[in-house]
Amino acid sequence: MKRRLAVLTSGGDAPGMNAAIRSVVRVGTARGLEVVGIRRGYKGLLTGDMFTLSPRDVSNIIQRGGTILKTSRCEEFKTPEGRQRAKAILEQHKIDGLILIGGDGTFRGGDALGKIWSGQIIGVPGTIDNDVYGTDYTIGYDTAINTALDAIDKIRDTADSHDRIFVVEVMGRHSGFIAQAVGVCGGAEEILVPEEPFDLAEVARRIREGRQRGKTSSIIIVAEGEETGGAVKVAQQLAPLAGYDMRVVILGYLQRGGTPTAADRLLATKLGAYAVDLFIQGATGVMAGEVGGILCATPLTETWSKKKPLDKYLTGLQQQLAS
Ligand code: ADP
Repeated sequence: MKRRLAVLTSGGDAPGMNAAIRSVVRVGTARGLEVVGIRRGYKGLLTGDMFTLSPRDVSNIIQRGGTILKTSRCEEFKTPEGRQRAKAILEQHKIDGLILIGGDGTFRGGDALGKIWSGQIIGVPGTIDNDVYGTDYTIGYDTAINTALDAIDKIRDTADSHDRIFVVEVMGRHSGFIAQAVGVCGGAEEILVPEEPFDLAEVARRIREGRQRGKTSSIIIVAEGEETGGAVKVAQQLAPLAGYDMRVVILGYLQRGGTPTAADRLLATKLGAYAVDLFIQGATGVMAGEVGGILCATPLTETWSKKKPLDKYLTGLQQQLAS
């Protein structure tokens, strides 16, 4: 009998998840495995909602955003009873390995499951936030920053025409990767992220000085998870300090959607295939990632316990770039 490798997508969806599913199915099948898709992440696992995926089932999806397997958040899986049920269902369906495409929450769940289930568990980093240790980039990040950048460029046109200050909130619950990339590429005057402490009075002073140097418009990028509590609060506190009116734009969920970029499709294809390789090699409790152009497996526990830093070089340049 063929060995059975299941795959699911979980947590926040990210463009490129479909390309990863396709790669797992095609490479897994080509290597003699039966690949099984589980619908709606851990929710579907708990109800045994799974079906065999053939190479033809993943035709024409590499270019589609979202995930054909659907995704969910599942409170029950966080309980020991829920995970016992998941173990029983995986045994009942004779699953030998499970590929989890998701973020750090998904990997925490996978690690907890691995303590009671004897099958192999391999993670694939799929989240727009890029906040996963063990891989330079996560699947979906490149598409998300390009989508956000497109919006920033449009906002700059109107900001410039009206001499306005815009405070733009981008995604990033606990990290400023999206904010940093979008801020640098969009020529933002300020980038406020959870990783770097900042003083709004200082920010206000720099904005006023920028005006005195002849800057007519300003864009302040705010990561949703920064300490003030998001763009609305930043604008409320900053406007009186700076002495200027401010407009707020929250980019929100549009950053999650859309056609994956070439970079995301390449990464998803490689990491999906590498996850299959790791399964065949007998690995478990690890995430497939790419660091410095080299594929590598990192223990799931390290993916969230170790912190991937923001690009300090770019952080150090920000004041000069905005001068
Ligand atoms: P992401 O994977 O994008 O970070 P979440 O943080 O929402 O998304 O996690 C996805 C799912 O993983 C949760 O809904 C839950 O079912 C499971 N999960 C998250 N954290 C844990 C945990 N500490 N223990 C067990 N399961 C967890």
